[in-house]
Amino acid sequence: MGSQQHGFCEGVTMNISDTIRKRVHESGDRYWAGDNISQHLNSGEKEQLINEVTKKFNDVLESLVIDIKNDPNSMDTGRRLAKMYINEIMAGRYNKRPNTTAFPNTGESGYHGMITARAEFTSLCSHHHQPVKGVAYIGVIPTEKVIGLSKYTRIVQWCARRGTLQEELTNDICKEIMKATESEHVAVYTQATHGCMENRGVESHSSLTQTTVVKGLFNTTHAKTEFFDNIKLQENFAC
Ligand SMILES: [Zn+2]
Repeated sequence: MGSQQHGFCEGVTMNISDTIRKRVHESGDRYWAGDNISQHLNSGEKEQLINEVTKKFNDVLESLVIDIKNDPNSMDTGRRLAKMYINEIMAGRYNKRPNTTAFPNTGESGYHGMITARAEFTSLCSHHHQPVKGVAYIGVIPTEKVIGLSKYTRIVQWCARRGTLQEELTNDICKEIMKATESEHVAVYTQATHGCMENRGVESHSSLTQTTVVKGLFNTTHAKTEFFDNIKLQENFAC
């Protein structure tokens, strides 16, 4: 395990998170739970973050009065949690945007109808860090470029693997798909269940939240109807 200490600032020992936060501050960027901060991380710093977070999670477990020195199931939990947060459930904060190769969509072979893609995701609510599991349907009316089908899923998962709200996630997916496809005609519909509703609070086991964002031509009744008809066909196919 590497050192938790990273550098010094005015005689105060800094953690790697302090160093990264300082860079983010200086750039003026935001670093909320749903924001990607990968451009402020240098190579090898994710490992240092995991080491720092391991120590902090161990402190939390100790404060919960769990015997992390003798309970074999809890001994490595601090490290498991740290790795899970940084490499998995919040990977979309620390990893760079996936490469989205775009192919030309012009001439006689160009396609200008609607594309509807389905992508499953797991996210995390910013408030309680409970799982948000669901499906995103993406509608695109392409202009001069199309992206590979797997890229829709990669973008959705990259946006989802952060702390977020479903409404925010839907907006983020829409923004990133618009960027990748260079089309302003994009629609995103998501439906998800929330651990927040199911595992705590009201403990409702059949909660389903739906959100929709439509841009460009998807604001017309015709395109919107076609998009939701396609979703119904996909839902029937998935059953
Ligand atoms: Zn919550």
